[in-house]
Amino acid sequence: MNAPHGFRKSWFDWFACPNCGYRSVFSYWTARIGSDRKSIKMLFWCRSCGRICTLKRQWLMPVLALCVVGPISFVLVYWLLVDGLMNINILWALFWIACVLVGVYAVLFLIGRFAKEYIAATHNEP
Ligand SMILES: [Zn+2]
Repeated sequence: MNAPHGFRKSWFDWFACPNCGYRSVFSYWTARIGSDRKSIKMLFWCRSCGRICTLKRQWLMPVLALCVVGPISFVLVYWLLVDGLMNINILWALFWIACVLVGVYAVLFLIGRFAKEYIAATHNEP
């Protein structure tokens, strides 16, 4: 089953369909302007049953990423960069910074595994 037009595939993004129970580590998503014309609604397409669903609390992941994971990773990268510059071992510092960035991606996936709760969407598209 091919994804509807406009839906993008996102790797390492936890998805659990509320309609059929299908679970996956990647999702197909798109964003639509809400019915009030003031909000943006994230829509997800289930590859198994073809229905559309949305997140129950779509603000939770951006808030956690910006307020929790972001500051911690910034401090880590800053500390590694300063330490690398002080010890004139910038390649080693860049290696550890790359590890931190991969770790941030993994942590966001794990947080999403528990923070993302999908519900059936009333949206009729597509
Ligand atoms: Zn489904």
